Amino acid sequence: MKPIVALVGRPNVGKSTLFNRLTRTRDALVSDTPGVTRDRIYGTCAYGERDFLLVDTGGLETEAEGGIELLAAEQARQAIRDAELVVFLVDGRLGLHPEDAAIAEELRRMQVPVLLVVNKSEDLEPTTVSAEFYALGLGAPLPVSAAANQGMGRLVDLVEERLPPAPEEEEELPGIRIAMVGRPNVGKSTLVNALLGEPRMITYDRPGTTRDAIHTVLERDGQTYTLIDTAGVRRRSRIHETLEKFSTLKAIQAMEAADVVFLLVDAQEGVTDQDARLARLVRDAGRGVVLAVNKWDHLDDQQKKRLRRTLDLKLVTPLYYAPLRYISALYGTGVGHLLETAEAIYGSYTKELSTAELNRVLNEATEAHPPPVRGGFRPKLRYAHQGAKRPPTVVIHGSRPNTLPDNYLRYLERTFQKHFKLEGVPLRLQFRKQE
Ligand code: GDP
Ligand code: GDP
Repeated sequence: MKPIVALVGRPNVGKSTLFNRLTRTRDALVSDTPGVTRDRIYGTCAYGERDFLLVDTGGLETEAEGGIELLAAEQARQAIRDAELVVFLVDGRLGLHPEDAAIAEELRRMQVPVLLVVNKSEDLEPTTVSAEFYALGLGAPLPVSAAANQGMGRLVDLVEERLPPAPEEEEELPGIRIAMVGRPNVGKSTLVNALLGEPRMITYDRPGTTRDAIHTVLERDGQTYTLIDTAGVRRRSRIHETLEKFSTLKAIQAMEAADVVFLLVDAQEGVTDQDARLARLVRDAGRGVVLAVNKWDHLDDQQKKRLRRTLDLKLVTPLYYAPLRYISALYGTGVGHLLETAEAIYGSYTKELSTAELNRVLNEATEAHPPPVRGGFRPKLRYAHQGAKRPPTVVIHGSRPNTLPDNYLRYLERTFQKHFKLEGVPLRLQFRKQE
């Protein structure tokens, strides 16, 4: 699994800009307004020798504004504790801010390894801009400019230097990798046991390469699966610990290592905001997914009705492509076909889409509903090909793709999805401008 690096800092120091730079996406919103919530909170940095997951903690808590306020949020503190390294970003133009000192003190108290980075340092003398930040007591500050793309190589080098060494031989997880994701107590471990069944078909069971994850390999009908359960180790090693802290980062790390996610929700507790947040993370990760509503036993009709309503609202909307399964891990109901479903989803996840067919579908779709006119021009979508698998990504070449409205993108997405019968996986669209 990829190590986690958490990005921390006051609002407006340039976290989103740096995040975009390092993960090379435009997904994170760059804005002059402090405290804007971002859609995507993590991405893979594949800049250096070793990939790592960069998490923008500014997007972790919707209630908190970032900065010290964010650190007060238990969820964010947990994320920082789970990270292998914290990149603490400050603003070289504004200089040392009292809130920087407060964040630094908090990070020192949490005893996490920190790399101090001074952003907005373009056109400033490196030693001068760094000087005042030594006072934070976090070692030598590294001056960079996220906006001007300066110092990024050095930054990635230093991150890699400070990460714990990679495990000697990182074994590939065999077969179809399934991550069990959900809040504490939804029944992840119970489901793993139910899937293993009797007699136990476990071939081996070992701690993962990263703390707190356990990988279980099993075979069923000639197909190998690796189940990734983030709760496993903790429970085994500290049985007396009853209150398990939920970790968004552990969930992210597990789903990143997986092909298919079993997103579990607790039917008896109902759907929470945390569940909805996890659903969005699974969608962003682009993994295959089964929405497993667990503890479906002992529910009366009234409860079932209420649950279905909130499920639709909070989970089915972001994960409209996910098969929905009502199960009871404890009694084994509905568990029997889950692995087969995962296998089918894996097929969609790795599917090859023929170029000829893609173009035919694109033509039909744009003829049935032409892209709307914007600023006096109608975007022309000319041709398509498959850009990537895992998940299937369709690259469309055309003019003015950036003026396509969201609902049109969703229309295209769903048209391809339906045509290629993609089960349990999102379809990604990318555009190449061509006038
Ligand atoms: P966040 O709130 O920490 O995520 O900060 P943003 O990434 O949204 O950036 C806040 C503002 O600082 C935006 O106007 C950015 O364009 C600007 N900014 C970010 N990085 C740099 C930089 O390296 N140099 C300068 N001069 N401005 C920057
Ligand atoms: P985890 O923290 O997500 O791994 O959850 P566990 O697997 O440890 O389950 C938490 C509790 O929920 C345990 O007491 C289980 O027995 C119970 N549980 C799990 N699945 C079910 C289910 O399908 N129905 C009921 N009624 N209880 C369940």
